[in-house]
Amino acid sequence: MTKIAGQTMGSMYHISWVGGDKQPSEVYETVEQRLAHLISVFSTYEPTSELSQLNARAASITGQWVPVSGDLMSVLRDAEKVHRYSIGRMDITVGPLVNLWGFGPEAHDTVPPEDQVQALLAGVGMRHLTLRPETNEIRMDQPLYLDLSAVAKGWAVDDIGLLLEAMGIENYLVEIGGEVRIRGRKPGGDWRIAIERPVMEVGQSVQKIIAPGDMAVATSGDYRNYFEKDGRRYSHTIDPTSGYPINHRLASVTLVMPTCSMADAWATAINVAGPEAGIALAEANDLAAYMIIRDGEGYREEASSAFIKLFGPLAEQ
Ligand code: ADP
Ligand code: MG
Repeated sequence: MTKIAGQTMGSMYHISWVGGDKQPSEVYETVEQRLAHLISVFSTYEPTSELSQLNARAASITGQWVPVSGDLMSVLRDAEKVHRYSIGRMDITVGPLVNLWGFGPEAHDTVPPEDQVQALLAGVGMRHLTLRPETNEIRMDQPLYLDLSAVAKGWAVDDIGLLLEAMGIENYLVEIGGEVRIRGRKPGGDWRIAIERPVMEVGQSVQKIIAPGDMAVATSGDYRNYFEKDGRRYSHTIDPTSGYPINHRLASVTLVMPTCSMADAWATAINVAGPEAGIALAEANDLAAYMIIRDGEGYREEASSAFIKLFGPLAEQ
């Protein structure tokens, strides 16, 4: 088994593979180049990226069809799909609120005043964005600030997986910042993934090990990226209907789906929905979802029917 690792999108990436005739250095160079390209397309942390330039021009392009790259259109389409089926929980136009709450490129940990939240909320809504995939064009009907952070990492994982496949690598695991895509097998068995138990202290502990086969796995949780003020926890996941960070008992949700892009976007959407509405969404859309929910001093777990179908009843896993 060959392994490479590096840094991208504010996280680490790890790739393992078996077979094929490519040298690790060649794979590493190709992956690094591709990741640099993807950042130049959809990073909001990179002022010169295609997405940042669109956001900067939002006022002047309002009402017009503007061309976008095929890669950007592909991410936007996945985001739109999950927006629709999650009844608005996932919304990439929430960007101004992400920034207001200090989880954008300019980080801070102050709670913004209510009137500022309301003012920005009025400008949020994916209904103001129309995609025309046939011609790779988009149109905003009011100036929007798009933030693809909830889906782009997963999309990049798939993209790197396809890159490996194009290089003749059929057995691999690609992981960026905890989002994973698996194809084939590793020597002596299946690729296995650990789902982390949320612990507040530094360090990680393993909650559950799964062997998902040719699938992707993405987790959304509120225990990694948040700030605390006056005893309250403010998550980096924003409820697009209220404009406020989510505040419920769901500590993390893990999705197992064929593509990492959809798993990543759905993980964010279900995280916004919370434990009860989240399980209902997973059932309605036949999604394999696994939740860790705060319960008194500890945690309890819950899984959707599709997850139990894949991995068996929770008690036996
Ligand atoms: P998580 O691990 O919680 O899913 P992601 O990295 O997938 O984290 O996505 C969280 C990021 O997505 C936030 O930092 C923010 O930039 C953006 N975001 C926050 N709330 C939403 C939302 N409701 N819909 C879409 N994007 C969001
Ligand atoms: Mg996500």
